[in-house]
Amino acid sequence: MRLGVEAALVDGVLLPGDVAIEGDRISAVGLERNGGRGIAAPGFVDLQVNGFAGVDFLGADADGYAAAGDALLETGVTSYLPTFITSTEDDLLGALRAVPDTRGPRILGVHLEGPFLSALRLGTHGRRGRRDPDPALLDRLLEAGPVRLMTLAPELPGALDLIGLLQARGITVSLGHSDATAAEANAAFDRGARTVTHVFNAMRPLLHRDPGIVGAALVRPDVVLQAIVDNVHLDPDIVRLLWSVGAGRVALVTDAMAAAALGDGTYALGDVEVVVADDVVRREDGVLAGSTLTMPQAVRNLVAAGAPLESALEAASTVPGRVVGSPHVGRLFPGGPADVVVLDDRIEVVRAIVGGETRVAG
Ligand code: ZN
Repeated sequence: MRLGVEAALVDGVLLPGDVAIEGDRISAVGLERNGGRGIAAPGFVDLQVNGFAGVDFLGADADGYAAAGDALLETGVTSYLPTFITSTEDDLLGALRAVPDTRGPRILGVHLEGPFLSALRLGTHGRRGRRDPDPALLDRLLEAGPVRLMTLAPELPGALDLIGLLQARGITVSLGHSDATAAEANAAFDRGARTVTHVFNAMRPLLHRDPGIVGAALVRPDVVLQAIVDNVHLDPDIVRLLWSVGAGRVALVTDAMAAAALGDGTYALGDVEVVVADDVVRREDGVLAGSTLTMPQAVRNLVAAGAPLESALEAASTVPGRVVGSPHVGRLFPGGPADVVVLDDRIEVVRAIVGGETRVAG
């Protein structure tokens, strides 16, 4: 199968020419064009999706995952991590056990955002399920389902040991919902944490004499900065700052929740009721509660903040793939998996392909 595109983003370089797919693999790139249109890029990889299109993953069944997956594909997401916010152990165990093998985008595993978070930086996470690090509880959670990424607050008692345990199980550790100082964050990075969850949001702020977890993450070239680039969670000037310091190690995440792809109204985020007005999601008291951002919009916003298109597309694919330690996820190259998004010149999704099968055709 030929995609009929004019260029493809092959390992970070926009290479003129068409792309061919055989079976579930990319078989060739840079082929003669014959008037191709649009560009092929690695399918988007979203590390933080709480819900989508009316579905909240914390309470979703296989049909819910299928419906949300179809809608995610329409936004070019070919791999993602359903994300569960802090909840009671029973709710988390139930949600972990319910993660299905579905058609649609690939589920790379679960992002557990909590429950080992700072009581001072919970944002919309419920206080009831929050816990200090507890290796026995961690074991029960990991046994219940396919955890791939865990967000925790490194300043909590026992957090560094937990990072060691997660490292040994091959689970990526992300720091977030945290009041950590720079020293506490650096101790966690030295122990193997390699990324931060929605940088700047729900963490100790960056101050000139107290750089905190944000400052520590910004100046460490080995740390990936996950960011919600919706121009609400981060001011556009902060996105420019982030890109000037962290180009090449920013991972775009949507932090999307059930209202994404629907519209304004009242929705559930875990057991919290939230209101969406003008596409912005807030709890009753005004605290931001996830987003309705889509990956193409995040890419457009990052380009508007000064990132080259190639780099912005990598921030939505290759960089997040690297975070979960999958060397082939989020890359487009001959021999690699045929998970592809075709985009027009306005960065709108024309087509999404998973494992060589076209699932969305515009
Ligand atoms: Zn969060």
